[in-house]
Amino acid sequence: MSDSFDVVVIGAGPAGYPAAIRAGQNKLTVACVDEWKNSDGSAAFGGTCLNAGCIPSKALLESSELFQRAKDEFAVHGIVVGDVKLDLAAMQKRRASIVKTMTNGIMALFRANGVTGIHGHGRLLPGNRVQVTGPDGSERTLQARHVVLASGSSPVRLRAVPHDGVRIVDSWNALEFDAVPRRLGVIGAGVIGLELGSVWRRLGSEVTVLEALEQFLPMVDQTIAKEAQRHFKKQGLDIKLGAKVSSAEVKGDGVEVRYSDAAGDHALQVDKLVVAVGRRPFTDELLAEGTGVLLDDRGFIQVDEHCRTNAPDVWAVGDAVRGPMLAHKGKEEGVMVADLIAGHFGEVNYKVIPSVVYTAPEIAWVGQTEEQVKAGGRAYKVGTFPFAASGRARAMEAAQGMAKIVSAVDDDEVLGVHVIGPMAGELIAEAVLAMEYSASTEDLQRTIHAHPTLSEALHEAALAADKKAIDAINR
Ligand SMILES: Cc1cc2nc3c(=O)[nH]c(=O)nc-3n(C[C@H](O)[C@H](O)[C@H](O)COP(=O)(O)OP(=O)(O)OC[C@H]3O[C@@H](n4cnc5c(N)ncnc54)[C@H](O)[C@@H]3O)c2cc1C
Repeated sequence: MSDSFDVVVIGAGPAGYPAAIRAGQNKLTVACVDEWKNSDGSAAFGGTCLNAGCIPSKALLESSELFQRAKDEFAVHGIVVGDVKLDLAAMQKRRASIVKTMTNGIMALFRANGVTGIHGHGRLLPGNRVQVTGPDGSERTLQARHVVLASGSSPVRLRAVPHDGVRIVDSWNALEFDAVPRRLGVIGAGVIGLELGSVWRRLGSEVTVLEALEQFLPMVDQTIAKEAQRHFKKQGLDIKLGAKVSSAEVKGDGVEVRYSDAAGDHALQVDKLVVAVGRRPFTDELLAEGTGVLLDDRGFIQVDEHCRTNAPDVWAVGDAVRGPMLAHKGKEEGVMVADLIAGHFGEVNYKVIPSVVYTAPEIAWVGQTEEQVKAGGRAYKVGTFPFAASGRARAMEAAQGMAKIVSAVDDDEVLGVHVIGPMAGELIAEAVLAMEYSASTEDLQRTIHAHPTLSEALHEAALAADKKAIDAINR
C-alpha cells in the first residue's frame, strides 16, 4: 500500500469522513486515519456522532418515546395494549445494532469512493507528514499534499465531580446503562443533558437536572424556551436553574451531589450522575513540534472562514474548530475543504446552520432569536402559529408548541425561524432552505403547503407575521 496521498484526514467523525469521501469523489488519493475504540475494544469509524452521540441518542429517544406513548397515549387513540413492559436489554441491543450498521456503512462508503481507511492514531509532523500508530503499536508515516485535521471533541469533566464511568458518568456511558437508574442526576440543562434526561425519565427514572445558569436554554428564542420548560416540567423533569454543583461523591450504592442555589446549600442523593456540561476540542497528541498549526486560547485549532490553519495545506474542520459543535456543521466544512483542495468552489454559510433538540416536543431553530434581532436594533415583525390549530398535529395527538418566524420590517427578510412541536427538526429544513435562498416572508406566504401537514404551521406563521393567518386569530 502506498504511503503517499493527495489528502490525509485525521479523524473519521462526521467532519472527517465526508472530507475523505468528497476528496475521493474529486479523484484525489486519500487516506482517513481514526483511533476510535468502543467499550468492547473494537475499532469503528464514525466518531462521536455515530458511536456515542447523535445516532445512539436518537435510537434511545425514539424507543423511549414509543414506550411512553404506548403507556400514556395509546388509550386516547382507542388502542388497548394492557400492561406495557420495558425490555431494556432489547432496547439497548437495537441501539447497538443501529450504530454497528451505520459505522459499517462508512467502511462501505470509503471502499466505494476509493478512500483508504486506517485504524490508528494520527499525529501531524512538520512537512505535512502524518505518523500513524496502529492498534498493535506498529508505526508508519504517510506523506500528504494536504492534511485535514478532524479530531473532534471530548466531554468536559468537572474536577469536583470525579468521573468513575459507573456511578458518575459522561454522555457516552449514559447511553449504555443496562438498568434504569431509580434516581438520575444530570449536571447541565443543555441539549445533551435534556435529551439524556428525557430518555431515562420516560423509562422510569426520577430525573433531577442541575443547571448553573439562571436562564433556561439561553441560546434558544425565549418564547420557545419558556414553552419547552413548561412541557419538561409536566413530563416530570425536575430542572433546577441557578444550581451550582460544588462536589459529588460516590457513597455506597449512590452518589451524593452538593450544590447551592439562591435558597442555600443542598445535598441530592442519586443512583447515577451524568455530567453533561459541554464538550472541548480534542487535540491531544495530535500536533508534533514545529507543524505551525496554532490553537486559540480555548484550545480550538485556529482556522479562517475556509478552515485553513496557519500551516500551509493543513486544514481543520468540525468540533475541533470554532463554531457550533454540530455534526452537520462539521460535515459541510469537510466537504468544503475537500472541494477547495481539488480547486473547486467551496463555502459554508455559517449564518444558516440549523439546531435541533430531540426532546418531545422537539425544538429546532435557524437564524436569529427575537432577542438577538431586538438587540441588533433592526425593526422586526413576528408571526406565530400554535400546533393546537394544526389538524395534522391534532390527528397525531401531538398538538403542542408553535412555529415562530422573525422577519425584518424594511425588506421582509426572514431573520430567524423557531419551532417547538412535533417533528420540529424536520420542519426546520424548509426554513433553512428559505434563508439559504434569501427568501422573503412573502415568498413563504405564497408557497403552497400540502394539507393537512405539520409544515402548514410554518406557512401560517409567515402569514401571521403580516396578520394574514387564516387558521388562527391574528393578534
Ligand atoms: C450524546 C450526544 C448527542 C449528540 N447529538 C447530536 C445531534 O443530534 N446532532 C448533531 O448535529 N450533533 C450531535 N452531537 C454532536 C456531534 O456528535 C459532534 O458535533 C460531531 O460528532 C463532531 O464531529 P467531528 O467529526 O468534528 O468529531 P468527532 O465525531 O468527535 O470525531 C472525531 C474522530 O477523530 C478521532 N481522533 C481524534 N484524534 C485523533 C488522532 N490523533 N488520530 C486518529 N483519530 C483521532 C476520534 O477518535 C473520533 O473518531 C451529539 C454529541 C453527543 C455527545
